[in-house]
Amino acid sequence: MKYIISMGSNLGKSQEIMVNALRDLEKSSRWKTLKKSSFYRTAPWGKTDQPDFLNAVIETEWDGTPESLLRFLQQTENRHGRTREIHWGPRTLDLDLIYGENEERNTKFLTLPHLFFWDRPFVLVPLEEVEPEFIFKEQKIHDRIMEIQGYEEVKKEPASWEGGW
Ligand code: AMP
Repeated sequence: MKYIISMGSNLGKSQEIMVNALRDLEKSSRWKTLKKSSFYRTAPWGKTDQPDFLNAVIETEWDGTPESLLRFLQQTENRHGRTREIHWGPRTLDLDLIYGENEERNTKFLTLPHLFFWDRPFVLVPLEEVEPEFIFKEQKIHDRIMEIQGYEEVKKEPASWEGGW
């Protein structure tokens, strides 16, 4: 099954953490990376007195349910030393399950598609890079980014650690 994942970090060596996290994800025989976006820098969302975020989007072929994928993402977050003292505060690694082809969930554990993804420039701008034809609620992703002025907030960040991923 094909899934879209959003990755973010704003604490520590963010690029290094994200590259290492993807290498870790790829160790699973259930995971195959299909596409990965560039890195993007974004001012923080929600709680604004914290460092900028580095974000990227990854498209994966995962052999399993969305629940099993989310559990796997959470284990990976924990292994990479995620700290979550403050809601919407700084975190070393954040992995969100954004979208799964023909998959909808509305449980305490998992909302799919992700509840806020269509409002978040830091998800949509990298997602457009890997899926330029993406459509949600009958709207093209490019039109949605224009509508929420997303290009102004999210800037591409050059790879700076071991040539990126
Ligand atoms: P956060 O700390 O903001 O990353 O939120 C994590 C919590 O959101 C966990 O309790 C998850 O079970 C829940 N959650 C619900 N839907 C999703 C989703 N699509 N992706 C990631 N976490 C989700």
